Amino acid sequence: MDKISLVVPCYNEEETIRIFYNEVLKYESQLDAELEFCFVDDGSHDHTLDILKALHEEDERVHYVSFSRNFGKEAGLYAGLELATGDYVVTMDVDLQDPPHLLPEMYNIVKNEDYDCVATKRSTRKGEPPIRSFFARMFYKLINKMSSTEIVDGARDYRFMSRQMVDAIIKDQEYNRFSKGIFSWVGFKTKWLAYENVERSAGNTKWSFFSLFKYSIEGILAYSVVPLFISSILGLIFFVISVIALFGIVIRAMLFGDPVSGWPSMVSIMLLLGSMILLCLGIVGLYISKIYLETKKRQIYIVKEKA
Ligand code: UDP
Ligand code: MG
Repeated sequence: MDKISLVVPCYNEEETIRIFYNEVLKYESQLDAELEFCFVDDGSHDHTLDILKALHEEDERVHYVSFSRNFGKEAGLYAGLELATGDYVVTMDVDLQDPPHLLPEMYNIVKNEDYDCVATKRSTRKGEPPIRSFFARMFYKLINKMSSTEIVDGARDYRFMSRQMVDAIIKDQEYNRFSKGIFSWVGFKTKWLAYENVERSAGNTKWSFFSLFKYSIEGILAYSVVPLFISSILGLIFFVISVIALFGIVIRAMLFGDPVSGWPSMVSIMLLLGSMILLCLGIVGLYISKIYLETKKRQIYIVKEKA
């Protein structure tokens, strides 16, 4: 019999874990496979860990890793994938925004059709603040123009994967992790299912607008070097302009002398160039910071407890 591991990162989710667990078990009979729960307590400050411990006592199929502090969802997913022993692995959120009723269908597709992975995306952005969905759309347009790795708009981290694909993902030990990119980068045949956005079962989202913005910058830096290319092109354009201007000014000075004027234009040009230089330096700096973190070879997460 096949074994399916559910990888579930949890950060301050005391209200949702049991709801999630019970909901998944409702579909167990349709699965014709053994289940394994791999919860990751991402340094929660509430009773998340206590609930996981209690569940582990009640049900030996429940396993967990608990981090020494909050390492972020990406680290949680990675730890969960390492913990999972199943023939198939599913990554999903604990708040039931990734509906468990899709599990039997996903299992069927990966097992009987010629796919290694079933991925999900939301069919609409209904229920999301309009500003947020506007920026989300912009982000996906931008990153797909700039990167050869396809990042699907509205893709969720709810995925059903074969062991082969999971092993490939675990081998990718980069420190700056952007799952939506890694899943796509490793390749394999993926079928996409779309579903309506579901509200959180309980508790609150951990993403603020700012953290989403930072996350999108991470994504762009990790999967594209186009910003570096743009800064070089900008430099080149300004170089050509300045050479032309230089000739113009020298010739004009030789023909008409050198009347002292043009202070405003000079200041504008200096400001423009100064800001361009800072912008480009900043872009280069962002990539260097990523190299810096990557070369440190820091651990992606630190385990405090495991069962
Ligand atoms: N999560 C986590 N670490 C974090 C933030 C979130 O493990 O630092 C987990 C969280 O418990 C949930 C999932 O990631 O299972 C998705 O989080 P959330 O529902 O807050 O995000 P949203 O669905 O709003 O994108
Ligand atoms: Mg959620």
